[in-house]
Amino acid sequence: MTAHEQYGEDLALYALGLLEGNERGALEQHLATCSSCRRELEQLRGDMGLLALEAVGPAPPQRSRKRLLEAIAFGARPREVQTRTRWWTWAPVVASILLAVVGVALWRENSQQKRRIDALQTEISQSAATLEHAKMVIAMLESPDAVRVSLSPGQTSPQPHGKAMYLPHKGALIFMASNMPAAPPAKTYEVWLVPMSGAPLPAGTFKPDARGSATVMMPPLPAGIQAKAFAVTVENEGGSPTPTMPMVLVGAAS
Ligand SMILES: [Zn+2]
Repeated sequence: MTAHEQYGEDLALYALGLLEGNERGALEQHLATCSSCRRELEQLRGDMGLLALEAVGPAPPQRSRKRLLEAIAFGARPREVQTRTRWWTWAPVVASILLAVVGVALWRENSQQKRRIDALQTEISQSAATLEHAKMVIAMLESPDAVRVSLSPGQTSPQPHGKAMYLPHKGALIFMASNMPAAPPAKTYEVWLVPMSGAPLPAGTFKPDARGSATVMMPPLPAGIQAKAFAVTVENEGGSPTPTMPMVLVGAAS
């Protein structure tokens, strides 16, 4: 047995602070002169630190736990040198301490895993609910049975609306209006043909009936005028040769 092997057995106990008396003194003397035993002691202390860290931090190398346990097992072996038996009554205590450290580490690890699993399960059930909702919306949009209703402010009256049919080469026009409010007193509506160039041409006057409808049939218009647009204005009774703004209806001919 070399000197190192002899002291190596005590290093684990020393690292745990369990070596006492003459043996402690002898080891400390040896440590003062032997750098390789000092290195071994540092490694054992490092292993213990890592085991303690394991309870709160990232997983340490598996070898730390293994090496410490091996050091303890090595120390627990019956030994030939009869004078140095006292220390190994400590072996069960050391083993218990190590088991406790490892046990706490495993328990922490386990409860962290459980928290991770809980979080995942919550996430999964939230995703499932979102998917279910999306499926329902798509099914609604695709369903032929769905009742479709457009809603608008209840008080809104129907909008005024005009339609013109025009045959340029004959100068023939039919104009129909709906939802027109009554013309103001002494006023009338007037239809205009807006040519591609030049001034708008008067194309008949009208007053809507009680339901707001009106028709202008074949007003006198020259043949062969290309229309850019048709428009309606409010004019004095009897009509005007030129339109008075604003236009109450307008539509481009295209
Ligand atoms: Zn040594």
